Amino acid sequence: RDVGTLDARISVCRACPRLVEWREDVARDGRRAAFADQPYWGRPGPGFGDPAPRLLVVGLAPAANGTNRTGRMFTGDRSGDWIYAALHRAGYAKVPWSRHAGDGQQLDGARIVAAVRCAPPGNKPTGEERATCAPWLDADVRLALPTLRAVLALGAIGFEAFLAAARRTGWAVARPAPRFGHGVQVPLVTPDGRVVPLLASYHVSQQNTFTGRLTEPMLDDVLARVRTLTG
Ligand code: SF4
Repeated sequence: RDVGTLDARISVCRACPRLVEWREDVARDGRRAAFADQPYWGRPGPGFGDPAPRLLVVGLAPAANGTNRTGRMFTGDRSGDWIYAALHRAGYAKVPWSRHAGDGQQLDGARIVAAVRCAPPGNKPTGEERATCAPWLDADVRLALPTLRAVLALGAIGFEAFLAAARRTGWAVARPAPRFGHGVQVPLVTPDGRVVPLLASYHVSQQNTFTGRLTEPMLDDVLARVRTLTG
């Protein structure tokens, strides 16, 4: 398998009835007024970025009017403004924005994926939906493995989802499971015997960035450590 085939298969997945209904309802009837004249993607969000990444960024799930509108991870919403600007400052993103396909954005050395690939109501996927979507993350982890040097999880759900994917794909993960916290760094051993650290940041959601729980220097500090690891 290759990344292009994986992304194509993800983008037509219909395994979660509630999320299929929601993503299509938003695309058809629930558009935000500012985007009323735009076509919505209304499908799962495939990974975006370098097909041979040294860094895998793991988010939670697409936003109804972000990825569910544009079809690209973290693209077209405030969370995306934050993460792409930070990835640009760290040297992974060509431009400091991500608005829509054809906006000039390109990632070098990094690929962005998510624990759940369809926009969930209230940004809250159920446990069953997280479990149903997990094989897509496993596939991304397997494909990234040969070049991977570090993983950055955004938020506790991305952190837990990556640890579970790592276990399922043969990585050595300490038990009890390491706990999520901003700036946490967990050394993990890959199936091919290398140490690839998992780093954690608070999620770039407005809930965190508007309140100052996550600041640009806090995110930059974590990405500077990631940059040292990936070269
Ligand atoms: Fe498929 Fe994942 Fe979307 Fe469920 S959340 S329909 S498993 S892509």
